[in-house]
Amino acid sequence: MKRLTIKKLNKPALKLAVALFLACSALSSFMSSASEKPNFIVILTDDQGYADVGFNGSDDIITPHIDKIAKEGTRFTNGYVTYAVCGPSRAGLLTGRYQGRFGFGRNPIIDPTDETSGLPLNEQMISEVLKPVGYTSSIIGKWHMGTHEKFRPNKRGFDHFYGFLSGGHQYFPEDLTIDSIENAKKNWSWYRTKIMENNKRVEIDEYLTDELSNEAVKFIEREKDNPFFLYLAYNAPHTPLQASQEYLDRNTHIKDKKRQTYAAMVTAVDDGVGRILAKLDELSLDDNTMVIFLSDNGGARNNGSNNGELRGFKGGYFEGGVHVPFAVRWPGKVPAGQIYKKPVSSLDILGTFAGITKAPIAKERPLDGVNLMPFITGKDKSAPHDVLFWRAFDQGTLATRRGNSKAIKSDRDGNHLFNLDNDLSEKNNLLKSDGELYQQQIKEVQAWESELIEPIFRPLQGHHVGNKNKNKKTKAK
Ligand code: CA
Repeated sequence: MKRLTIKKLNKPALKLAVALFLACSALSSFMSSASEKPNFIVILTDDQGYADVGFNGSDDIITPHIDKIAKEGTRFTNGYVTYAVCGPSRAGLLTGRYQGRFGFGRNPIIDPTDETSGLPLNEQMISEVLKPVGYTSSIIGKWHMGTHEKFRPNKRGFDHFYGFLSGGHQYFPEDLTIDSIENAKKNWSWYRTKIMENNKRVEIDEYLTDELSNEAVKFIEREKDNPFFLYLAYNAPHTPLQASQEYLDRNTHIKDKKRQTYAAMVTAVDDGVGRILAKLDELSLDDNTMVIFLSDNGGARNNGSNNGELRGFKGGYFEGGVHVPFAVRWPGKVPAGQIYKKPVSSLDILGTFAGITKAPIAKERPLDGVNLMPFITGKDKSAPHDVLFWRAFDQGTLATRRGNSKAIKSDRDGNHLFNLDNDLSEKNNLLKSDGELYQQQIKEVQAWESELIEPIFRPLQGHHVGNKNKNKKTKAK
């Protein structure tokens, strides 16, 4: 066959070819700037401390695969979640909105007959936002967004669910002795319910973290040809502290038993992350997949975690409660090896996905998060957020960070003002020396609070995360 060369084309044909070429390239560049459909994977750990990943300096817990996300992508040194416990933090992440706007201001009750205790149906989760632009979504792991039939994942835009509905779980198959959440009548017995795949009960035979990783890999295989959103919500390293021997054996350098078990649980997660990244590589999906890693709140006081120089733990609004390990990788799009220091939030995850895909966001439910892409690529040099806010209704706590200045007003933990620039450990309370700035910031967080509503469901029975004021109106007002 003869090759068609420009020489052989006559002039009008040449003009037409050039015009077509220009039109096509203009269209393709318009298309790529207008919207893209990469895959999205959010890997969320549970109660993992800020300092418990290699990329934040851990020298006893070894996380080469999680570190790969940070190394080949951007790591956030000021990454925050919107609440210091599991349920509300996830409600913020999944909706891109402060959970107090829709009354998810405490952990939900685990009761499948309760029609209030879940994420309100008029809010939209990432899965629901991405569905109209062609995404298939899966939640693998911990749900915690309501146990009533109407609140379950398959009703919330998730095409696939593999995991459990409650806020925590036993890790060994032999301990999963209760058939369904309907039969888990006693508090915390829901930790023993069998794993579900969509609405069916399944039997597992491996350590739970490994099972979740297996399912994640299978989902990626299955959906390799379609745009997908995978929300991989490991319950590790949340209590109960349970690790299989294989992972304990890889952490014998840690002598403290509690810390060793916790580390082993993180090792299992890290292995899972490694398998997921390897699968993306094998299927040549690397460049077309954004992978985000973060923890749902800071390390807990009771699980052997380490928040490094950050003060406090899960449940509180010092940095240790809400400042989490956070990194994003998207080869060729998100700068590799970058350390991004301006505050970012888990609220920005949906903002970023919507920004990239141009998925529409309903006007009546504006996002509190933003698209991080212009910021992390350096196109926008300003800060994604001038200010971040927190409210923990039951403990009467309001907190806010504006620039480097953090103010906390709390019935439980007292009133504080810190300059995080030189006092990340929040040791030096500037309340007395700079009362005016404190008042200014509290006024600002109170104005934000006036947009919120009270929790719409009752508190979890017997669940006292430092909560002396439950059922009372917040005193922080
Ligand atoms: Ca948690």
